[in-house]
Amino acid sequence: MRVKILGCSGGIGGDLRTTTMLIDDDILLDAGTGVGDLTLEQLVKIDHVFITHSHLDHVTSIPFLVDTVCWMRSQPIVIHTTRDTIRILKEHLFNWKIWPDFSQIPDGDNPFMVYEEVTVGETVKIGKREFTAVPANHVVPAVGYLIDSGNGSLLFSGDTSTNDALWEVANRTENPRYLIVETAFSNKEREIAIASKHLCPSMLAEELAKLTRQVEVYITHLKPGEVALTMNEIEKEAAFWHPMMLECGQVFEF
Ligand SMILES: [Zn+2]
Ligand SMILES: [Zn+2]
Repeated sequence: MRVKILGCSGGIGGDLRTTTMLIDDDILLDAGTGVGDLTLEQLVKIDHVFITHSHLDHVTSIPFLVDTVCWMRSQPIVIHTTRDTIRILKEHLFNWKIWPDFSQIPDGDNPFMVYEEVTVGETVKIGKREFTAVPANHVVPAVGYLIDSGNGSLLFSGDTSTNDALWEVANRTENPRYLIVETAFSNKEREIAIASKHLCPSMLAEELAKLTRQVEVYITHLKPGEVALTMNEIEKEAAFWHPMMLECGQVFEF
């Protein structure tokens, strides 16, 4: 399994892209602005999109993806996410006002896009690749994902604040290799982090203290303009884990 980071920033500007991962050549995990860097040939190959939550930085490219490639495909693109997020996407994005409802185009029996509901703790298998939604604690219904190739696994927190359930999953995972965890704000914005249900470095340290397994820790969703500050704070507060900054273009093979 090959996971390529197409976007991992908390914002845009220059070469920054919002949360997007490409898994092998047929699956996206979140569909932020990073999707736009794929070629048309690559876009056509996307069969599945797993979504953590409905915030725009994670779903903004689904409408453009479906609209761009639908005429070139014989199968619908499958959007995997929770029942709550499906409802929000239907009501607030694919509602004919912001964007057409591609789950009804060209018709409801044979649409360009379909939704598949995921439930926390249940594993979706695509070939040998396993995706399990894990709990997240955010201002809208949200999940993270545990991705397992059979040889190893990558745990992605999604957008989350303090989240004991995530560490319970991490601690009982059989073959953990990588942890990608958000830290959206620096310490001086701890109050904003709490209110918006994200993490800051001091909160990240409190969270990582609950982790009993040996994994490589990568930080995502850093706010543009505060990247160096936040990473410096993380290096001090969570030194034991040697967290590294997740980079656009980075590839994990496991
Ligand atoms: Zn969010
Ligand atoms: Zn986000």
